[in-house]
Amino acid sequence: MTFHTLGLSDPILQALEEKGYATPTEIQRKAIPAILEGRDVLATAQTGTGKTAAFVLPILQALGGERERRPKRFRALILVPTRELAIQVQDNIQLYGKHLAVTSMSMVGGVDLEPQKQQLIEGVDIVVATPGRLLDLAYQRALYFDELEILVLDEADRMLDMGFIDDLDKIIARLPAERQSMLFSATLSSQVKSLARSVVNNPVDVSV
Ligand code: AMP
Repeated sequence: MTFHTLGLSDPILQALEEKGYATPTEIQRKAIPAILEGRDVLATAQTGTGKTAAFVLPILQALGGERERRPKRFRALILVPTRELAIQVQDNIQLYGKHLAVTSMSMVGGVDLEPQKQQLIEGVDIVVATPGRLLDLAYQRALYFDELEILVLDEADRMLDMGFIDDLDKIIARLPAERQSMLFSATLSSQVKSLARSVVNNPVDVSV
């Protein structure tokens, strides 16, 4: 199986080729076609399995078709537990999306709010955020969720371990009900399953 047979578009295939990735990993083989079909996904996958590309590639494909569109409000939200992971995921978006006109930003704590507000005003397609900073900006009316189409919770078990459940509940309550959602977690504890019930709808279960 190749990335081509998974249904990815030429600009993405070209970026993958330039990076030197020839073969999709198991999580990518299982998750990418389901996400491209618009299904929700509940995935159990450890770090190191290629899980980041498993959600980044189909999101880029979903958002990357309209080159002329200037985004007003962001359309995809990727929630992660830490600042480091946010930066890593955004690096991946830039790498795989380099032949597309999709824009992204990381929205993390510990840095000045103003540049993040400015980026939102200019318009961005994908936001990669830690829950606390995202809520800060939402409370300041610097970002609105009404055009959100895609939600990813990455490392959901770690977000719960770090005590983000209240923040996550507050964020999820603000999102449009009509959306595509994916939850990735290294483990599927009862806590994660309970969170999943409020996030994903009739998901494809993927486990590697
Ligand atoms: P992740 O599980 O997302 O943290 O990815 C683990 C590592 O595998 C990262 O360094 C990725 O860049 C790399 N990777 C992801 N997909 C592939 C692939 N299909 N072939 C080779 N390496 C990959």
